[in-house]
Amino acid sequence: MPARSALFSQRSLTFALLILLACGFLGTSLLSYFASRGAIRDGIINTELPLTSDTVYSEIQKDLIRPVLIASMMAQDTFLRDWVLAGEQDTRRITRYLREVMGKQDTFTSFFVSDRSLTYYQAKGVLKKVEPGTWRDAWYFRLRDLKAPYEINVDLDMANQDSLTVFINYKVMDYQQGFIGAAGVGLSVASVVQLIDKYQRRYQRSVFFTDSNGKVLLTGSDGGPHGLRVGQSLSDNPELNEVLAQHNVPGEGSHEYADSAGHSHFLNVRQLPELNWYLLVDKREAGTLDRIRHSLYLNLAICTMITLVVLSLLHAMIRRHQASTEALATLDSLTGLPNRRSFDLLAAQALQEAQRDCAPLVALLIDLDHFKVLNDTHGHLAGDEVLRQFANVLQGSLRQSDILCRWGGEEFIVLLREAEGRQAIDVAEKIRRRTEQLTFNYDEQPLRLTTSIGLSGLQTGDTLHTLLTRADRALYRAKQSGRNRVCSETLGPDHE
Ligand code: GH3
Ligand code: MG
Ligand code: MG
Repeated sequence: MPARSALFSQRSLTFALLILLACGFLGTSLLSYFASRGAIRDGIINTELPLTSDTVYSEIQKDLIRPVLIASMMAQDTFLRDWVLAGEQDTRRITRYLREVMGKQDTFTSFFVSDRSLTYYQAKGVLKKVEPGTWRDAWYFRLRDLKAPYEINVDLDMANQDSLTVFINYKVMDYQQGFIGAAGVGLSVASVVQLIDKYQRRYQRSVFFTDSNGKVLLTGSDGGPHGLRVGQSLSDNPELNEVLAQHNVPGEGSHEYADSAGHSHFLNVRQLPELNWYLLVDKREAGTLDRIRHSLYLNLAICTMITLVVLSLLHAMIRRHQASTEALATLDSLTGLPNRRSFDLLAAQALQEAQRDCAPLVALLIDLDHFKVLNDTHGHLAGDEVLRQFANVLQGSLRQSDILCRWGGEEFIVLLREAEGRQAIDVAEKIRRRTEQLTFNYDEQPLRLTTSIGLSGLQTGDTLHTLLTRADRALYRAKQSGRNRVCSETLGPDHE
């Protein structure tokens, strides 16, 4: 039972330690993971994305806002208005004017469409006539009915091999505020797309523009997030439904949503009032958090290793402790000799072997004479010291194969293997003589002592008990006959 309960408590100690280490390590690892994740998310939402949108905004301001001013100036230009009102005489004058605007202001294209003749003028001359009902010219008729003074339109430029162009179309009014045409400039989106690409590559985020209806106007060269293409609406993409919330464009500020693969996204929306566009910066959380997720896994792996090392060290310590406890349980603490418990085991084995091999076995029961007097005279500690020194005398007088134990108090038992008759008596005599001759030492006091020894030899049918009972009888006789002597039973004639 005690062994089982020791095993049980060892298991529960190991288990408790395992739980403690696992909870501790897991707790701290997860805590630091969530803390860094929180800090990174905060950084993305509150700093990174707004900063990106600020930077992109200031860059495109240079490219897009300036042309709005140029187109506005064209719409106010008295030459342009006078030339139209005078009946559009001499096409060269308007084309030179448009060339001047284009060259001086460094725009990609410049144009004027007259409402009276529906002629499309550009820097190189007359391009064509605009026609109602054709998709290419729809912009003009839309602008004509527009309340606002201008419109920005991302479209293909027929005058420039249909390259994608941002047009700023301004209404030109006569002096009575009557509509007389549309003037404006166009600029290539290539530079804006390059800029978007640069930001996307550098910061691993999607940068794109929509109009107020949520129609995608500009993206990087690979398109927007979730495969959104120019011309598509945000609402075409179900993954964005969560942030659209019945609107065409998510409200200004930061948003969070999950895509169909379950990855979190952060989206920053900013309105560009000059263009009536929206700038959207989208960032997938996964890439950013991969690093800290890896460090979490590494952390956990290290913690598991530490836990295993600690547990195996503990296991080894417990085993060592158990071994030493077991050794203590079989040894007498005062003399270091085997105690009665271990003697029983050793003696049973020796008896069995002797009986099986018909080998001799002699038991010696050894008792110190008048030990009580020594204790009473010199104290218990002196008695202890004498017992220790006497144990050394015994060990020094025996062979390795003999079994020696402290039987209790000042009594010792020896089992002599393969010694019979005379030999056994000689060993006993040697012990008796050495004890008698030895000056024991305690606190620099010389102490003298004698010992009485009872012997008995193993006989057929003996048990350990019968063997020892005879040795005890022999010892009794030794005491009775004056002490400091060896008496034997079943070894032949007594030896005194
Ligand atoms: P005898 O010659 O008849 O054997 O006399 P004795 O005094 O040796 O016999 P007794 O059995 O009356 O006394 C043994 C004494 O040994 C009594 C006890 O206090 C003492 N003793 C037993 N164990 C120890 C021990 O571990 N240390 C010390 N100091 N004394 C012990
Ligand atoms: Mg005694
Ligand atoms: Mg005694």
